[in-house]
Amino acid sequence: GRAAAAVERLTRWRDDFPTPGVRFADLTPVFADAEGFRTVVDCLASCGPDADLVAGVDARGFLIGAAVAASLGTGVLAVRKAGKLPPPVISREYELEYGTAALEIPADGIDLAGKRVLLLDDVLATGGTLAAAANLFTQVGAQVIAAAVVLELTFLNGRDRQGDYPLTSIVKV
Ligand code: IMP
Repeated sequence: GRAAAAVERLTRWRDDFPTPGVRFADLTPVFADAEGFRTVVDCLASCGPDADLVAGVDARGFLIGAAVAASLGTGVLAVRKAGKLPPPVISREYELEYGTAALEIPADGIDLAGKRVLLLDDVLATGGTLAAAANLFTQVGAQVIAAAVVLELTFLNGRDRQGDYPLTSIVKV
């Protein structure tokens, strides 16, 4: 579709970023393009038409998460990197190439039990980030009804690490 065409046309690929041997996909020009952003947001929104909350993963997931939430008429929740939110928080660690990182959501102030969550991020690589984000919602009794990303790097098999929610990617590489 038009979203996939825009992603394929506008993504910046860079070798050896952020570390040697990594080929980095930069979606900045996709989101900066009026047609690219609108078609990507429409496509992601269609993945969770009956969601009642849209969650986006730090940091580029915030851009699409907010736009998709506005399109669906839901609230939006930013899944933050560790240390950004005041306590109390729910935290989930995940593996990086070297060491671990953690994602967090607030532990109070939002009634997440039973919420139907559409979970979004820009890129699915090894899948650890998305799986950790999804785990936060199951920890609080919410249901991840669907996850969606703009770009899936299939050779890293990130899909194999996900739970039983459907996972859509606009473009697979
Ligand atoms: P994963 O946990 O290995 O799947 O990595 C996914 C996370 O890292 C996402 O939050 C992405 O934003 C980021 N990421 C990994 N690789 C890339 C890339 O090539 N381009 C942009 N973001 C990436």
